[in-house]
Amino acid sequence: MSEQLIDPFGRRITYLRLSVTDRCDFRCTYCMSEDMQFAPRSQILSLEELYNVADAFIGLGVKRIRITGGEPLVRKNLLSLLNRLGARSELEDLAITTNGSQLHNQAQLLREAGVKRLNISLDSLQRERFAAFTRRDQLTQVLAGIEAARSAGFSKIKLNSVVQKGRNDDEVIELLEFAMARGMDISFIEEMPLGSISSHQREQTFCSSDDVRQLIEQRYDLVRSSKLTGGPSRYWQVVGSATQVGFISPHSHNFCGDCNRVRVTAEGKLVLCLGHENALDLKGLMRRYPGDTERLRSAIAESLRLKPERHHFAVEEQVQVLRFMSVTGG
Ligand code: SAM
Ligand code: SF4
Repeated sequence: MSEQLIDPFGRRITYLRLSVTDRCDFRCTYCMSEDMQFAPRSQILSLEELYNVADAFIGLGVKRIRITGGEPLVRKNLLSLLNRLGARSELEDLAITTNGSQLHNQAQLLREAGVKRLNISLDSLQRERFAAFTRRDQLTQVLAGIEAARSAGFSKIKLNSVVQKGRNDDEVIELLEFAMARGMDISFIEEMPLGSISSHQREQTFCSSDDVRQLIEQRYDLVRSSKLTGGPSRYWQVVGSATQVGFISPHSHNFCGDCNRVRVTAEGKLVLCLGHENALDLKGLMRRYPGDTERLRSAIAESLRLKPERHHFAVEEQVQVLRFMSVTGG
C-alpha cells in the first residue's frame, strides 16, 4: 500500500496515539477532577473498532502506535487487541503509556503480546506526595509494577514526570537518579492547560523545562541527543550514564514544525493536534458503514487537510482546550 498521510504543510504522519479508554483508576490532579464524568460505554470504541482504526492507519503508512488513555491497562481484554497489533509486521513500534498500577501482574503479558516500549508515569517517590498527585495511595504498587516491567525485558522503559513548582520540583534529581540506577530514560513534562481543574492554579505551579534542565545541570552534565521523535520531547544524554532525559515543553518550545502524529480518542474522534479542537468522528463513520475499510481510510486521509500548522498554549490562560488529557490520550 503506497498511500501515505501527508498534511498541507508537508508533514508525513507515521505515528498514531490510540486511546483505548477515558477511564482511569487514578485521579491525577492535573489531569482529572475527582468526580469525572466518563463517556457511556456504548460511546467508547469496541476492541474490534479500535483494531479497525489502527489497521486503517497502518494501511496509510503509520509505523508506530502508542496505546494510551485514560489508563489503558484498565480496559478489559486489552491484551486481545495488543496481540493482534503485535502481530502486524508493518509496525516498527508498539508502545504503551501507563500509570503503572496494573503492571505488577500485566507486564509480562504485554511483552509477550509484542509491546516493545513502556512509558510509566511517576511524579514522586514520596508516598504522601504521590497520593496527593494521583489522589490514590498506590506508590508501592506502582514501584512493584516498574520492577515487573524491568524483569519482563522491554527494549526501553521511560518514566514521565509532570513537574510542578513547590510540589515536586525538589525531587527532580531523585527521580532522575531513580531512572539512572535502573537504566531507564525519564521525561520531565510541563503541565498543559487541558481541561478545567480546581486543585491548583496552573500559573503558580508552572515549572518550565528550562528550569528543570538547569536544576539537573547543577549536578550532571547533559549533552544534546540526536534522538528526534517528531513529538514535543527533546532529549539529552546524561554524560557517563545510559539514561536519556527528555523535556516535554509544549509551552516553552515550539515542536510543531516536525509533528508526525495524530491521536484517536477512546470515543473515536481523530484529533489532529493536541492544542486544537479540530476532530473527525471516526466512530460515527464506522458505525454507519461497518466494514467499509476504504471509506475509513479515505476519511482519515482527507481529514489531514484540517491539521493545523501549530498550536498556541499560554500558561496564563486556564483552559484553552476543553478536552482533558485523559480524553485525548497523552
Ligand atoms: N494513564 C496513563 C498515564 O498516566 O501514564 C496514560 C494517559 S496520561 C493522560 C498520559 C500522560 O499525560 C501522563 O504522563 C500524564 O502525566 C500526562 N498528563 C496528563 N495531564 C496532563 C497535563 N495537563 N499536562 C501535562 N501532562 C499531562
Ligand atoms: Fe489517569 Fe494518567 Fe490522567 Fe493520571 S495522568 S488521571 S493516571 S489518565
